[in-house]
Amino acid sequence: MKIAVLSRNPRLYSTRRLVEAGQARGHEMVVIDTLRAYMNIASHKPQIHYRGKPLEGFDAVIPRIGASVTFYGCAVLRQFEMMGVFPLNESVAIARSRDKLRSLQLLSRRGIGLPVTGFAHSPDDIADLIDMVNGAPLVIKVLEGTQGIGVVLCETATAAESVIEAFMGLKQDIMVQEYIKEAGGADIRCFVVGDKVIAAMKRQAKPGEFRSNLHRGGSASLIKITPEERMTAIRAAKVMGLSVAGVDILRSNHGPLVMEVNSSPGMEGIETITGKDVAGIIIQYIEKNGGPHLTRTKGKG
Ligand code: ADP
Ligand code: MG
Repeated sequence: MKIAVLSRNPRLYSTRRLVEAGQARGHEMVVIDTLRAYMNIASHKPQIHYRGKPLEGFDAVIPRIGASVTFYGCAVLRQFEMMGVFPLNESVAIARSRDKLRSLQLLSRRGIGLPVTGFAHSPDDIADLIDMVNGAPLVIKVLEGTQGIGVVLCETATAAESVIEAFMGLKQDIMVQEYIKEAGGADIRCFVVGDKVIAAMKRQAKPGEFRSNLHRGGSASLIKITPEERMTAIRAAKVMGLSVAGVDILRSNHGPLVMEVNSSPGMEGIETITGKDVAGIIIQYIEKNGGPHLTRTKGKG
């Protein structure tokens, strides 16, 4: 097969590994810098041009679209879909996963366990917003944050009010969430491919920190997940419409709670910790499930 990897940088670990794994299985792998691709959307025959030539003959496309290029990246992916190329994750599902409010609404509608969560922009009654999520301690998050930045633990209602006021001043959308203390500063990353969790790892925050992000000094280790956690991760990916997803779960007293579902999950940590050939499993998934004109959403909805 001829497989495109949409990625800004061929040297990134995940991009390199996907190229290696595809080549090892006899495929032609082409890395396409998402922002450099351009297209004619008004023609009868949808095309993408790259380095002065039309892209042709692709069987599948693996989107590795960073959060900062979601909008343009999804447009390029949608154009591949219109050309009938098989997308590992569909553009609609990726766009959905990048909107935290929309994602959590979808997951809750389908009965997936979530921390009690409120959303707000300029709440006219901050005390009521705090009560709505059962009071302090609570976690406040800015919506566009990543790598744990913009995630604050407020031990008291007074602290929470000040932080909410500060974010209101910055005109930020925020999420106010029940603090899952019993998770003990740890979360579980489940790597889902198709209808399986193919690898899982635990991330533990450094002492004195509640955020387990590796960028915040957290450490990763192997973990055996429960059947309920496995089911939750698979269902969460399915609700989002993602074939490949990193589902982050908190262990609470009342079962697994989904924190977020990532549509371009990093592969370095999980391959290193578990020793699994995640890239190879993704290529095999494409071999088994790929084919022309299979995009379900056709870029709509
Ligand atoms: P980001 O998208 O920046 O990674 P997250 O929502 O994943 O933000 O939060 C960062 C980390 O903070 C999580 O990995 C988790 O360890 C911790 N955390 C987030 N929300 C909660 C919560 N409601 N209860 C307990 N810990 C949380
Ligand atoms: Mg996170």
